[in-house]
Amino acid sequence: MCSIIDDIEIAADWLCKDEIVGIPTETVYGLAGNMFSEQAVNKIFTVKQRPTFNPLIVHIAKGEALSRLAHSIPTQAYQLAEAFWPGPLTLILPKNPSVLPLITANKPTVAVRMPAHSLLQNLLNILPFPLVAPSANPFTRISPTSAGQVAQYFDGQIPAVLEGGNCEKGIESTIVGFEQGQVVIYRLGAIPVEKIESIVGKVSIAQLSKSVHIPQEGLMAPGMFYKHYAPTTTALWVDNLQAFIEAHPHKRIGVLSFQETAPITGITQEVLSAMGNFDEASHRLYAALDRLDKAQLDYIITTGVPDQQLGRSINDRLSRAFKRQHQ
Ligand code: AMP
Ligand code: MG
Repeated sequence: MCSIIDDIEIAADWLCKDEIVGIPTETVYGLAGNMFSEQAVNKIFTVKQRPTFNPLIVHIAKGEALSRLAHSIPTQAYQLAEAFWPGPLTLILPKNPSVLPLITANKPTVAVRMPAHSLLQNLLNILPFPLVAPSANPFTRISPTSAGQVAQYFDGQIPAVLEGGNCEKGIESTIVGFEQGQVVIYRLGAIPVEKIESIVGKVSIAQLSKSVHIPQEGLMAPGMFYKHYAPTTTALWVDNLQAFIEAHPHKRIGVLSFQETAPITGITQEVLSAMGNFDEASHRLYAALDRLDKAQLDYIITTGVPDQQLGRSINDRLSRAFKRQHQ
């Protein structure tokens, strides 16, 4: 049984006993453990079926913790932390020896972020250690944005998930690294590129891998695997919704759209934001995808969202979940 709890003391008890617990963040739910406990970190990899070459993000409550985890921190990292912490920004920095190699997949760098969810901040503040937490989904599956979904994914495998409501952002953190003075975005996320650039000027965006599951040499963030965040139903990114629906009259089709309703009545559909608001669309993205996945459809189709601001991050996730289909 995995209980949904709202008492941070109970969560802290489990965590102090090297157990792993589902936690809310403003991005998506995480699967958390004591960063200094080899046993807890191993459990995260096992339960998530996550390959050990895929490193974890360390979650801290206060800025002071940063200097214990990382060294040679560039000025731009401080500027970005100042602007976006607490919030959905993950910094990749040279690691200190206290960080277990298992967490960083033997990389010389560690990923750190300070989450903005108040319940998680309260939990971190009563714990004597930071938490490592990847998203609380089995490897390659849709990231959870509610406690119920975490309990469903890991029932019988973790003791508890902390109820923190539906995640405000609904999409993972933006991951930023530093290479020879240059700021590099390794994963598009809840903070749009434009906002990062408003603080540190022009950034580069790391080349996305087209591989499925297998990391390519030099690939910095495995969240960049081509197939990721995927529903189990066949999901296709089409050029024209109506043409696809008309060409498949005997199939059960669900539509995931940004603002517009599907051109054919009676079809299962999820509109991400009727008002065309990117924040609302990212907040609803994974839950909408999950509902479609559970609707016993033959196909889920989409044409993506406008490719700007947060829309770019949403399209990044959609392009990993949906296969391109040219009609
Ligand atoms: P998740 O929390 O499941 O979204 O996964 C965390 C993401 O952070 C993964 O894509 C990791 O690869 C990435 N990450 C963690 N540590 C590092 C690191 N040292 N360098 C690059 N990416 C990292
Ligand atoms: Mg993930």
